[in-house]
Amino acid sequence: MIPYGRQDISAEDIDAVRDVLTSDWLTQGQAGPRFEQALATYCGSAHGIAVSNATAALHIACLALDLGPGDMLWTVPNTFVASANCALYCGASVDFVDIDPRTYNMSVAALAEKLAQAEAAGGLPKVVVPVHFAGQSCEMVEIRALADRYGFHIIEDASHAVGGDYRGRKVGDGALSDVTVFSFHPVKIITTGEGGMLMTNVPKLAERLSYLRSHGIIRPMQSPPTADERRSNEDRHGPWMYEQIELGLNYRMTDIQAALGSSQLNRLDAFVERRRELAARYDRLLSKLPVTCPWQHPDTNSAWHLYVIRLRRNELKRSRRQVFEALRAAGIGVNVHYIPVHTQPYYQRLGFKVGMFPEAESYYQDAITLPLFSKMTDAEQDTVVAALTNILA
Ligand SMILES: *Cc1c(COP(=O)(O)O)cnc(C)c1O
Repeated sequence: MIPYGRQDISAEDIDAVRDVLTSDWLTQGQAGPRFEQALATYCGSAHGIAVSNATAALHIACLALDLGPGDMLWTVPNTFVASANCALYCGASVDFVDIDPRTYNMSVAALAEKLAQAEAAGGLPKVVVPVHFAGQSCEMVEIRALADRYGFHIIEDASHAVGGDYRGRKVGDGALSDVTVFSFHPVKIITTGEGGMLMTNVPKLAERLSYLRSHGIIRPMQSPPTADERRSNEDRHGPWMYEQIELGLNYRMTDIQAALGSSQLNRLDAFVERRRELAARYDRLLSKLPVTCPWQHPDTNSAWHLYVIRLRRNELKRSRRQVFEALRAAGIGVNVHYIPVHTQPYYQRLGFKVGMFPEAESYYQDAITLPLFSKMTDAEQDTVVAALTNILA
């Protein structure tokens, strides 16, 4: 089976992990801060905060922005459930904004319309989570302008997009949002096994995120409370003092993971370049088939986490399901991204109904994710194209 995604682990990656395993620190050593610094520098962001996975990152991003009961978070239905669940972890509620039928990202027009309605009805969101689907950035300048007008925070879910560009700058540079979240799950662009990172340019947020991921505890060398408070606490305790100042979690990344991340980061540009090459090759090889290839907004340069085609249903006799099953039977590990979140049983129980977000639902009806990963050979890609051509004939 040719998988839809797969990690790319080199001898250097293995050496980096082995070095940590034989060192004194398996967690909370220097490998974590080193990875944070390296990725922040790569993205052009002031701060990186490494965590155990992107779901944890989304959770503490919401906490750090004071999202809580009575507040609302908006995201898109065309995403992994984690982009929405993070609000519910905080006791806030979720709503969705439909997607743009060309990019499959959050529609700026739909967002603007929903905001105008919400303002009139008195229900504006506190946080909006645009998801850079498949590695292509959302239209962040437009979303930023709406945030300035309506006063919401932005968490970019860039789980697909590390290494991608928007208007000539790296996704995660933090210029247009409060926080950006990356995932390092093995199917994503670079991996740490499980892992994630938050990027931000806001010092207060960076500080709060760094202790929310570690039980809400600060140590004397970190800053938080006032100097007087700390001095009195140090008097009461001693040099071993630590203080829990908030209810945090244990969402830390281990040094084993961080060392793998730093080593993978050395090849991030090469990974993305190969993905772009393969995507361009798919575009070319599929141009005669009754499928729609991914449209690219001129402001973006995708990291190409996913290559999603849409079947042109009216030109085909076979259903999406039949095409999908035939591809799987031919050894092609296709997938579908995503079942619209609002149609999941859990979200239906919260009151969402099929039909509420027609663009995401229509997209879902005919989408198929083809295999794409940096180690994929041209020959493997030719096998995928031949199988698809044969099945659609
Ligand atoms: C993978 C993914 C996540 C969750 O990432 P984990 O690191 O697996 O927790 C969140 N959002 C999107 C869009 C994703 O693709």
